[in-house]
Amino acid sequence: MVHILVVEDEPSLRQLLVNNLGFEGYSVDAVEDGIPALAAHQSRRADLIILDLMLPAMDGFQVLAALRQRKDPVPVLMLTARGEEADRVKGLSIGADDYLVKPFSVLELSARIKAILRRTQPQAPAQVLRSGPFRFDLPALEAFRDGSLVDMTPREFRLLEILITHAGRTHSRNELLSLAWEPDARPTPRTVDVHVANLRKKLGEDDLGRPYIATVGGEGYRWTLGVEAERPLEP
Ligand code: CA
Repeated sequence: MVHILVVEDEPSLRQLLVNNLGFEGYSVDAVEDGIPALAAHQSRRADLIILDLMLPAMDGFQVLAALRQRKDPVPVLMLTARGEEADRVKGLSIGADDYLVKPFSVLELSARIKAILRRTQPQAPAQVLRSGPFRFDLPALEAFRDGSLVDMTPREFRLLEILITHAGRTHSRNELLSLAWEPDARPTPRTVDVHVANLRKKLGEDDLGRPYIATVGGEGYRWTLGVEAERPLEP
């Protein structure tokens, strides 16, 4: 069951969120401030945190920063009464997954939550994935395009694996570095660019001449196609 932590100081909105999320079949915890939020997440890991920005003691930015500082990738949907672009940009730049401005409809909230969970929930541990013309055999570290093996290094395959198993999600260079390189290897973000450039050459382009790995906002990379698990053969 997907577990959601609600962090909202306004009692009526908190209750509304708890009721609606519970109704939608999520397991829900709710707290009213940042410090209890971190404690609640520590004692029971949330699959998603709905985090109000303005909180009495420790605000949403601080909670988010604390989570990301300890390399916690839990998806965070930020809520705020302030619709200012600066807050939105700040929230996203320090690692929020999405942002919703109050007042919002519960339908909008529900759609955003589902979109985040689709991007971030680990799928059934599929071993072979299909995406457009590609087939990826994860245990064998093999990629095929239209049935032909695409030759790549294990590091390139690892990068590709991160992108395709979180298809649609943008990974920053630093995130890719920490996921695909050993901590003591200390390559630079430029190294990621070089590997992505090599991967693009090897994977080719789509019908419109675009690479399958998109550069997003000059900041990171994203796999552009949908990905699905290959159905196992019937016995
Ligand atoms: Ca508030």
